[in-house]
Amino acid sequence: MKKTILDLTKDELTEIVNPSFRAKQIYNWLYQKYVENFDEMRNLPKDLRESLSEKYVINPLTIVRKEQSSDGSIKYLFACQDGYTVETVLLPMKKEERDSEGNLLKETKYTICVSSQVGCKIGCSFCLTAKGGFKRDLTPGEIVAQVLSLKKDQNIPSNRRVNIVYMGMGEPLDNLDNVAKAVKIFKEQDGLSIGARRQTISTSGLSHQIAKLGSMDLGVLLAISLHAVDDELRETLMPINKAYNIESVINAVKAFPIDQRKRVMFEYLVMKELNDDLKSAKKLVKLLHGIKAKVNLIYFNPYPGSPFQRPDEKTMEEFKAYLNDHGITCTIRQSKGLDISAACGQLKEKTADESG
Ligand code: SAH
Ligand code: SF4
Repeated sequence: MKKTILDLTKDELTEIVNPSFRAKQIYNWLYQKYVENFDEMRNLPKDLRESLSEKYVINPLTIVRKEQSSDGSIKYLFACQDGYTVETVLLPMKKEERDSEGNLLKETKYTICVSSQVGCKIGCSFCLTAKGGFKRDLTPGEIVAQVLSLKKDQNIPSNRRVNIVYMGMGEPLDNLDNVAKAVKIFKEQDGLSIGARRQTISTSGLSHQIAKLGSMDLGVLLAISLHAVDDELRETLMPINKAYNIESVINAVKAFPIDQRKRVMFEYLVMKELNDDLKSAKKLVKLLHGIKAKVNLIYFNPYPGSPFQRPDEKTMEEFKAYLNDHGITCTIRQSKGLDISAACGQLKEKTADESG
Protein backbone atom coordinates (compact mmCIF):
# COMPACT_ATOMS: atom_id res chain seq x y z
CA MET A 1 0.00 0.00 0.00
CA LYS A 2 1.39 3.39 -0.99
CA LYS A 3 1.64 6.23 1.50
CA THR A 4 -0.28 9.42 0.91
CA ILE A 5 1.56 12.57 -0.03
CA LEU A 6 -0.85 14.38 2.32
CA ASP A 7 1.24 12.98 5.21
CA LEU A 8 4.01 15.43 4.37
CA THR A 9 4.50 18.92 5.79
CA LYS A 10 5.87 21.42 3.31
CA ASP A 11 9.32 21.16 4.89
CA GLU A 12 9.31 17.41 4.46
CA LEU A 13 8.19 17.74 0.86
CA THR A 14 10.89 20.33 0.23
CA GLU A 15 13.50 17.79 1.32
CA ILE A 16 12.46 15.31 -1.34
CA VAL A 17 11.68 17.49 -4.35
CA ASN A 18 14.17 19.55 -6.25
CA PRO A 19 14.34 22.49 -6.63
CA SER A 20 12.53 23.45 -3.48
CA PHE A 21 9.92 25.74 -5.08
CA ARG A 22 8.32 22.56 -6.40
CA ALA A 23 6.97 21.87 -2.91
CA LYS A 24 4.99 25.09 -3.05
CA GLN A 25 3.61 24.16 -6.48
CA ILE A 26 2.61 20.71 -5.31
CA TYR A 27 0.92 22.11 -2.21
CA ASN A 28 -0.99 24.46 -4.44
CA TRP A 29 -2.24 21.66 -6.69
CA LEU A 30 -3.21 19.50 -3.75
CA TYR A 31 -4.88 21.95 -1.42
CA GLN A 32 -6.07 24.80 -3.61
CA LYS A 33 -6.87 23.11 -6.89
CA TYR A 34 -7.96 19.82 -5.32
CA VAL A 35 -6.33 17.63 -8.00
CA GLU A 36 -6.50 13.89 -7.39
CA ASN A 37 -3.89 12.80 -9.86
CA PHE A 38 -0.19 13.69 -10.23
CA ASP A 39 -0.62 13.91 -14.02
CA GLU A 40 -2.79 16.97 -13.59
CA MET A 41 0.10 18.89 -12.00
CA ARG A 42 0.96 20.44 -15.33
CA ASN A 43 3.78 22.72 -14.28
CA LEU A 44 5.83 19.82 -12.90
CA PRO A 45 8.31 17.97 -15.12
CA LYS A 46 7.05 14.61 -16.31
CA ASP A 47 9.73 12.59 -14.52
CA LEU A 48 8.85 14.22 -11.21
CA ARG A 49 5.15 13.49 -11.71
CA GLU A 50 6.05 9.88 -12.48
CA SER A 51 8.32 9.40 -9.52
CA LEU A 52 5.75 10.91 -7.17
CA SER A 53 2.99 8.68 -8.44
CA GLU A 54 5.21 5.63 -8.06
CA LYS A 55 5.70 6.44 -4.40
CA TYR A 56 2.50 8.12 -3.27
CA VAL A 57 -1.24 8.22 -3.64
CA ILE A 58 -2.95 11.59 -3.25
CA ASN A 59 -6.23 10.96 -1.47
CA PRO A 60 -6.22 7.83 0.74
CA LEU A 61 -9.96 8.13 1.47
CA THR A 62 -13.04 7.20 -0.54
CA ILE A 63 -16.59 8.26 0.24
CA VAL A 64 -18.70 5.30 1.38
CA ARG A 65 -21.76 7.17 2.46
CA LYS A 66 -23.08 10.69 2.90
CA GLU A 67 -26.14 11.89 4.81
CA GLN A 68 -27.60 15.34 4.92
CA SER A 69 -29.64 16.53 7.85
CA SER A 70 -32.53 18.97 7.69
CA ASP A 71 -30.44 21.57 9.55
CA GLY A 72 -27.79 21.50 6.85
CA SER A 73 -25.10 19.41 8.51
CA ILE A 74 -23.65 16.67 6.36
CA LYS A 75 -22.06 13.55 7.66
CA TYR A 76 -19.54 11.54 5.65
CA LEU A 77 -18.34 8.00 6.13
CA PHE A 78 -14.92 7.49 4.53
CA ALA A 79 -13.04 4.25 3.86
CA CYS A 80 -9.28 4.23 4.34
CA GLN A 81 -7.04 2.27 1.99
CA ASP A 82 -7.11 -0.74 4.33
CA GLY A 83 -10.91 -0.72 4.46
CA TYR A 84 -11.39 0.76 7.93
CA THR A 85 -13.98 3.51 8.03
CA VAL A 86 -14.12 6.86 9.80
CA GLU A 87 -16.62 9.68 10.06
CA THR A 88 -16.38 13.39 9.34
CA VAL A 89 -19.13 15.99 9.76
CA LEU A 90 -19.56 19.31 7.99
CA LEU A 91 -21.42 21.83 10.10
CA PRO A 92 -22.49 25.02 8.35
CA MET A 93 -22.51 27.41 11.30
CA LYS A 94 -24.21 30.49 9.90
CA LYS A 95 -26.33 30.79 6.80
CA GLU A 96 -25.13 33.15 4.11
CA GLU A 97 -26.79 36.55 4.10
CA ARG A 98 -27.72 38.58 1.02
CA ASP A 99 -29.23 42.03 0.63
CA SER A 100 -32.46 42.68 -1.29
CA GLU A 101 -30.53 42.78 -4.56
CA GLY A 102 -28.95 39.44 -3.94
CA ASN A 103 -25.46 40.72 -3.13
CA LEU A 104 -23.55 38.57 -0.72
CA LEU A 105 -23.23 40.19 2.71
CA LYS A 106 -21.95 37.31 4.79
CA GLU A 107 -20.58 33.97 3.67
CA THR A 108 -21.60 30.72 5.28
CA LYS A 109 -19.16 29.69 7.98
CA TYR A 110 -18.14 26.08 8.12
CA THR A 111 -16.82 23.90 10.87
CA ILE A 112 -15.51 20.46 10.04
CA CYS A 113 -15.42 17.79 12.72
CA VAL A 114 -12.61 15.31 12.04
CA SER A 115 -11.76 11.85 13.37
CA SER A 116 -8.29 11.11 14.71
CA GLN A 117 -8.41 7.32 15.19
CA VAL A 118 -10.31 4.29 13.95
CA GLY A 119 -12.19 3.50 17.15
CA CYS A 120 -10.98 4.63 20.55
CA LYS A 121 -9.22 3.09 23.56
CA ILE A 122 -10.80 5.30 26.20
CA GLY A 123 -14.07 3.40 26.47
CA CYS A 124 -16.54 6.04 27.68
CA SER A 125 -19.85 4.41 28.55
CA PHE A 126 -22.02 6.89 26.63
CA CYS A 127 -20.04 6.81 23.40
CA LEU A 128 -20.78 4.64 20.43
CA THR A 129 -17.25 4.91 19.03
CA ALA A 130 -16.01 3.15 22.14
CA LYS A 131 -18.22 0.13 21.49
CA GLY A 132 -16.28 -1.02 18.45
CA GLY A 133 -12.98 -0.94 20.34
CA PHE A 134 -9.75 0.50 19.01
CA LYS A 135 -8.37 -0.40 15.60
CA ARG A 136 -5.58 2.02 14.78
CA ASP A 137 -4.35 5.60 14.71
CA LEU A 138 -5.04 7.70 11.65
CA THR A 139 -1.99 9.08 9.86
CA PRO A 140 -1.63 12.87 9.51
CA GLY A 141 -2.62 12.57 5.85
CA GLU A 142 -5.76 10.63 6.68
CA ILE A 143 -6.80 13.42 9.03
CA VAL A 144 -5.98 16.11 6.46
CA ALA A 145 -7.74 14.15 3.69
CA GLN A 146 -11.06 14.33 5.56
CA VAL A 147 -11.10 18.12 5.22
CA LEU A 148 -9.74 18.11 1.69
CA SER A 149 -12.25 15.50 0.44
CA LEU A 150 -15.11 17.33 2.03
CA LYS A 151 -14.16 20.73 0.61
CA LYS A 152 -13.79 19.20 -2.81
CA ASP A 153 -16.99 17.16 -2.66
CA GLN A 154 -19.01 20.17 -1.48
CA ASN A 155 -17.38 22.55 -3.97
CA ILE A 156 -16.28 24.80 -1.12
CA PRO A 157 -13.87 27.34 -2.65
CA SER A 158 -10.28 26.75 -1.60
CA ASN A 159 -9.92 30.21 -0.09
CA ARG A 160 -13.02 29.84 2.08
CA ARG A 161 -11.80 29.46 5.64
CA VAL A 162 -13.11 26.65 7.75
CA ASN A 163 -12.73 25.82 11.41
CA ILE A 164 -11.63 22.40 12.50
CA VAL A 165 -12.67 20.54 15.62
CA TYR A 166 -11.01 17.24 16.53
CA MET A 167 -14.26 15.87 17.91
CA GLY A 168 -15.00 12.95 15.63
CA MET A 169 -14.00 9.38 16.37
CA GLY A 170 -10.99 8.74 18.57
CA GLU A 171 -8.99 10.49 21.27
CA PRO A 172 -6.69 13.03 19.58
CA LEU A 173 -4.25 13.18 22.48
CA ASP A 174 -3.79 9.43 22.28
CA ASN A 175 -2.46 10.04 18.75
CA LEU A 176 -0.71 13.29 19.53
CA ASP A 177 2.24 13.11 17.12
CA ASN A 178 0.02 12.52 14.08
CA VAL A 179 -2.55 15.07 15.22
CA ALA A 180 0.17 17.69 15.82
CA LYS A 181 1.49 17.06 12.34
CA ALA A 182 -2.00 17.40 10.87
CA VAL A 183 -2.35 20.74 12.72
CA LYS A 184 0.85 21.92 11.00
CA ILE A 185 -0.18 20.70 7.56
CA PHE A 186 -3.57 22.45 7.91
CA LYS A 187 -1.72 25.65 8.81
CA GLU A 188 0.57 25.78 5.75
CA GLN A 189 0.15 29.03 3.85
CA ASP A 190 0.33 27.41 0.41
CA GLY A 191 -2.06 24.71 1.52
CA LEU A 192 -5.37 24.88 3.35
CA SER A 193 -4.13 27.81 5.43
CA ILE A 194 -6.21 27.06 8.52
CA GLY A 195 -4.58 28.86 11.44
CA ALA A 196 -4.06 27.14 14.77
CA ARG A 197 -6.65 29.38 16.40
CA ARG A 198 -9.22 27.88 14.07
CA GLN A 199 -8.39 24.39 15.26
CA THR A 200 -9.79 22.96 18.49
CA ILE A 201 -8.51 19.74 20.01
CA SER A 202 -11.02 17.97 22.21
CA THR A 203 -9.81 15.52 24.83
CA SER A 204 -11.30 13.23 27.42
CA GLY A 205 -8.63 14.60 29.75
CA LEU A 206 -5.27 12.86 29.36
CA SER A 207 -3.52 15.28 31.71
CA HIS A 208 0.09 14.41 30.84
CA GLN A 209 -0.71 14.71 27.13
CA ILE A 210 -2.38 18.08 27.69
CA ALA A 211 0.93 19.18 29.20
CA LYS A 212 2.82 17.75 26.22
CA LEU A 213 0.50 19.48 23.75
CA GLY A 214 1.05 22.71 25.67
CA SER A 215 4.81 22.35 25.44
CA MET A 216 4.58 21.95 21.65
CA ASP A 217 3.23 25.51 21.52
CA LEU A 218 1.15 24.92 18.41
CA GLY A 219 -1.35 27.64 19.33
CA VAL A 220 -4.38 25.38 19.04
CA LEU A 221 -7.47 25.77 21.18
CA LEU A 222 -8.37 23.23 23.79
CA ALA A 223 -11.68 21.58 24.63
CA ILE A 224 -12.12 19.30 27.61
CA SER A 225 -14.82 16.65 27.71
CA LEU A 226 -15.67 16.98 31.38
CA HIS A 227 -19.23 15.60 31.58
CA ALA A 228 -19.23 15.19 35.38
CA VAL A 229 -18.17 17.27 38.37
CA ASP A 230 -17.29 14.57 40.85
CA ASP A 231 -14.81 11.77 40.43
CA GLU A 232 -17.20 9.05 41.43
CA LEU A 233 -19.66 9.72 38.62
CA ARG A 234 -16.95 10.63 36.13
CA GLU A 235 -15.23 7.29 36.71
CA THR A 236 -18.35 5.39 35.83
CA LEU A 237 -18.82 7.41 32.65
CA MET A 238 -15.18 7.72 31.65
CA PRO A 239 -12.79 5.06 32.95
CA ILE A 240 -9.85 7.36 32.10
CA ASN A 241 -10.81 9.33 35.21
CA LYS A 242 -9.20 6.59 37.33
CA ALA A 243 -5.83 7.47 35.86
CA TYR A 244 -6.43 11.21 35.54
CA ASN A 245 -8.97 12.59 37.97
CA ILE A 246 -10.80 15.88 37.69
CA GLU A 247 -8.22 17.75 39.75
CA SER A 248 -5.37 16.65 37.52
CA VAL A 249 -7.29 17.71 34.41
CA ILE A 250 -8.09 21.13 35.88
CA ASN A 251 -4.45 21.62 36.86
CA ALA A 252 -3.31 20.68 33.35
CA VAL A 253 -5.74 23.21 31.89
CA LYS A 254 -4.49 25.94 34.21
CA ALA A 255 -0.94 25.33 32.98
CA PHE A 256 -1.91 25.24 29.29
CA PRO A 257 -0.70 28.18 27.18
CA ILE A 258 -3.63 29.89 25.54
CA ASP A 259 -4.10 33.13 23.66
CA GLN A 260 -5.38 35.69 26.18
CA ARG A 261 -8.32 36.53 23.93
CA LYS A 262 -9.44 32.92 23.83
CA ARG A 263 -10.99 30.51 26.31
CA VAL A 264 -10.77 26.84 27.07
CA MET A 265 -13.98 25.06 26.19
CA PHE A 266 -15.49 22.60 28.62
CA GLU A 267 -17.91 20.15 27.08
CA TYR A 268 -20.58 18.84 29.37
CA LEU A 269 -22.70 16.03 28.00
CA VAL A 270 -26.01 16.21 29.80
CA MET A 271 -27.78 12.97 30.65
CA LYS A 272 -31.23 12.95 32.16
CA GLU A 273 -31.31 12.67 35.95
CA LEU A 274 -27.63 11.84 36.08
CA ASN A 275 -25.72 15.09 35.87
CA ASP A 276 -28.41 17.61 34.96
CA ASP A 277 -29.20 19.01 38.44
CA LEU A 278 -28.37 22.48 39.71
CA LYS A 279 -26.11 21.04 42.41
CA SER A 280 -23.84 19.88 39.60
CA ALA A 281 -24.05 23.30 37.97
CA LYS A 282 -22.97 24.86 41.25
CA LYS A 283 -20.01 22.49 41.56
CA LEU A 284 -19.07 23.24 37.97
CA VAL A 285 -18.90 26.96 38.71
CA LYS A 286 -16.57 26.25 41.63
CA LEU A 287 -14.39 23.93 39.62
CA LEU A 288 -13.87 26.44 36.83
CA HIS A 289 -13.01 29.29 39.18
CA GLY A 290 -9.89 31.06 37.94
CA ILE A 291 -10.00 29.57 34.44
CA LYS A 292 -10.95 31.52 31.32
CA ALA A 293 -13.54 28.96 30.41
CA LYS A 294 -16.69 28.60 28.41
CA VAL A 295 -19.07 25.72 28.79
CA ASN A 296 -20.82 23.93 25.99
CA LEU A 297 -23.76 21.83 27.09
CA ILE A 298 -24.49 18.87 24.83
CA TYR A 299 -27.73 16.96 24.76
CA PHE A 300 -27.03 13.25 25.14
CA ASN A 301 -27.88 11.73 21.79
CA PRO A 302 -29.48 8.32 22.39
CA TYR A 303 -28.78 5.31 20.17
CA PRO A 304 -30.43 1.89 20.24
CA GLY A 305 -29.60 0.22 23.54
CA SER A 306 -27.93 3.30 25.04
CA PRO A 307 -28.13 3.33 28.86
CA PHE A 308 -28.80 7.09 29.16
CA GLN A 309 -31.53 9.49 28.20
CA ARG A 310 -31.75 12.88 26.61
CA PRO A 311 -32.46 15.64 29.18
CA ASP A 312 -35.52 17.93 28.88
CA GLU A 313 -35.16 21.30 27.31
CA LYS A 314 -36.29 23.09 30.46
CA THR A 315 -33.61 21.41 32.59
CA MET A 316 -30.96 22.33 30.02
CA GLU A 317 -32.08 25.96 29.97
CA GLU A 318 -32.00 26.15 33.78
CA PHE A 319 -28.53 24.63 33.91
CA LYS A 320 -27.32 27.11 31.32
CA ALA A 321 -28.94 30.07 33.08
CA TYR A 322 -27.31 29.09 36.37
CA LEU A 323 -23.85 29.13 34.78
CA ASN A 324 -24.45 32.38 32.93
CA ASP A 325 -25.75 34.00 36.11
CA HIS A 326 -22.59 32.97 37.89
CA GLY A 327 -20.19 34.47 35.40
CA ILE A 328 -19.53 31.50 33.13
CA THR A 329 -20.33 31.81 29.45
CA CYS A 330 -22.45 28.85 28.55
CA THR A 331 -24.09 27.75 25.34
CA ILE A 332 -26.17 24.76 24.42
CA ARG A 333 -24.89 22.88 21.40
CA GLN A 334 -27.83 22.55 19.14
CA SER A 335 -27.96 18.89 18.25
CA LYS A 336 -26.84 19.31 14.71
CA GLY A 337 -28.07 16.53 12.58
CA LEU A 338 -29.94 14.53 15.19
CA ASP A 339 -31.89 13.02 12.33
CA ILE A 340 -28.73 11.76 10.69
CA SER A 341 -27.36 10.15 13.82
CA ALA A 342 -24.74 12.80 14.31
CA ALA A 343 -22.92 11.89 17.50
CA CYS A 344 -19.61 10.26 16.84
CA GLY A 345 -19.71 6.65 15.77
CA GLN A 346 -23.35 6.63 14.88
CA LEU A 347 -23.22 6.65 11.10
CA LYS A 348 -20.62 3.94 11.07
CA GLU A 349 -22.79 1.77 13.30
CA LYS A 350 -25.76 2.25 11.04
CA THR A 351 -23.85 1.21 7.95
CA ALA A 352 -22.60 -1.92 9.72
CA ASP A 353 -26.17 -2.82 10.74
CA GLU A 354 -27.48 -2.46 7.24
CA SER A 355 -24.73 -4.51 5.69
CA GLY A 356 -25.46 -7.24 8.23
N1 SAH B 1 -12.22 11.74 22.31
C1 SAH B 1 -12.37 13.15 22.35
C2 SAH B 1 -12.92 13.72 21.07
C3 SAH B 1 -13.98 12.92 20.37
S1 SAH B 1 -15.50 12.68 21.22
C4 SAH B 1 -13.26 13.54 23.52
O1 SAH B 1 -13.87 12.67 24.12
O2 SAH B 1 -13.29 14.72 23.80
C5 SAH B 1 -16.36 14.12 20.75
C6 SAH B 1 -17.57 14.47 21.60
O3 SAH B 1 -18.69 13.62 21.27
C7 SAH B 1 -17.31 14.34 23.09
O4 SAH B 1 -17.50 15.54 23.77
C8 SAH B 1 -18.32 13.31 23.48
O5 SAH B 1 -18.77 13.55 24.74
C9 SAH B 1 -19.42 13.45 22.43
N2 SAH B 1 -20.32 12.28 22.41
C10 SAH B 1 -20.00 10.98 22.49
N3 SAH B 1 -21.11 10.21 22.53
C11 SAH B 1 -22.17 11.06 22.46
C12 SAH B 1 -23.58 10.88 22.46
N4 SAH B 1 -24.14 9.68 22.51
N5 SAH B 1 -24.36 11.98 22.40
C13 SAH B 1 -23.82 13.22 22.32
N6 SAH B 1 -22.49 13.45 22.32
C14 SAH B 1 -21.66 12.38 22.40
FE1 SF4 C 1 -13.15 8.03 22.97
FE2 SF4 C 1 -14.09 10.56 23.11
FE3 SF4 C 1 -15.76 8.47 22.68
FE4 SF4 C 1 -14.62 8.78 25.06
S1 SF4 C 1 -16.08 10.20 24.07
S2 SF4 C 1 -14.77 6.83 23.92
S3 SF4 C 1 -12.63 9.55 24.51
S4 SF4 C 1 -14.16 9.18 21.32
